[in-house]
Amino acid sequence: MVHEAYAERRQESGWPQVERHRPVVEILESHETCRDIFEKARWPDGPVCPNCGAKHAASRLKTRPGLWTCKACRSCQYSATSGTHLHRSRLPVSVWVRLYHTIYIMNRPLTASQVSRRYDVAFLTAKSMLRRLEAMNSENPEMMGRLEAILRDLARNAGRS
Ligand SMILES: [Zn+2]
Repeated sequence: MVHEAYAERRQESGWPQVERHRPVVEILESHETCRDIFEKARWPDGPVCPNCGAKHAASRLKTRPGLWTCKACRSCQYSATSGTHLHRSRLPVSVWVRLYHTIYIMNRPLTASQVSRRYDVAFLTAKSMLRRLEAMNSENPEMMGRLEAILRDLARNAGRS
């Protein structure tokens, strides 16, 4: 029953649901889990419309789950990267979460050529990815702090037996 209580607690706090006892790298293989983590870091209290600022008015586009529409102003579609340095990136948020995890949680600094090989992107794209991640850290410190906390929390739970 320990597991059920744990699951309920996690659900109440609104944190991403993940299975325990799995290495974090494996957990992060799921695009959906990464997206949940990223959205939670961006909007700890639920999506906020970047156009009108409405809270609790977001509905997820069923056809494109990373996109939200606003029921208040009805004039925009947005995602967790809107208004950040990661906006207009063609890369899925899961790549950003994995890259952040490798560099900042596992403390493995990567060079642009390593990023290029690892994610199968052009060298210039890899360079820009590293730059953008740094820009996120300096310009969105609260969000990135939450991302770090969520990933460290995952690592703690994954390591527990
Ligand atoms: Zn709105």
